[in-house]
Amino acid sequence: MTLKGKTAVITGSNSGIGLGVARELARAGADVVLNSFTDRDEDHALARALGEEFGVTARYIKADMSKGAECRALIEQAGVCDILVNNAGIQHVAPIDEFPQDKWDAIIAINMSSAFHTTAVALPLMRKAGWGRVINIASAHGLTASPYKSAYVTAKHGVVGMTKTVALECAREEITANAICPGYVLTPLVESQIPDTAKKYAMTEEEAKQKVILERQPSKEFATTEQIGGTAVFLCSDAAAQITGTTISVDGGWTAL
Ligand code: NAD
Repeated sequence: MTLKGKTAVITGSNSGIGLGVARELARAGADVVLNSFTDRDEDHALARALGEEFGVTARYIKADMSKGAECRALIEQAGVCDILVNNAGIQHVAPIDEFPQDKWDAIIAINMSSAFHTTAVALPLMRKAGWGRVINIASAHGLTASPYKSAYVTAKHGVVGMTKTVALECAREEITANAICPGYVLTPLVESQIPDTAKKYAMTEEEAKQKVILERQPSKEFATTEQIGGTAVFLCSDAAAQITGTTISVDGGWTAL
């Protein structure tokens, strides 16, 4: 299959899953717009290198997904958005009665509300093009809960609900909306949790990965960014044209338990 002629905007895509999804969409022929809240030479160089590697147009646009106006400006500046991947996300772990309000607000804004703003501006562009794909990167935590992750779990459940609503609103058009729910993927977000986890349980970092982080993932393996990206490519394919309003788990069996 080819996504030649399509343009994908991927939020939060200068590392981890977002970058992996951008790479797989570009490999399939899509032009891509990378994004994060930084505006460094290396961000633009990353986009240039990706474009050269896959022979597609790749741009980097700075926009802070914690701010509604910047989310909207990202899509406006992209100008075209056939495939929207809402991926930007952060995490904070604390008991709910000690959860800092600023962390709560940031997680809800970046992990959930950003998808509302980008989708609102992207849908008219998709309608104009007569085709569109909204792909929200939710989480196994959009389907199940874990203690101490109240804001993250709330935001990801919200994203799953928003995905279903968008799917219904666009059901008579060539526009689908689906959520990918990854289990653990070894990205900077997860890597940053390993030293503290190891310290907390008095383990080596390798033991912390296997016994604590992967405890709920029956495969006992991390999913890869390529696998998440490949799932996004599938959702853009003709084979997935009738798949809308659903969640696809890429979690080594976590949510089957
Ligand atoms: P990551 O930290 O590698 O990537 C997060 C991305 O979001 C980065 O590109 C970062 O620059 C960007 N970002 C953060 N704040 C931003 C902001 N205010 N504006 C714009 N961009 C911002 O983490 P990741 O693991 O790749 O996470 C990506 C998504 O996947 C998140 O939504 C996360 O919740 C979800 N997810 C990750 C895992 C996992 O195990 N890694 C599992 C399930 C879901």
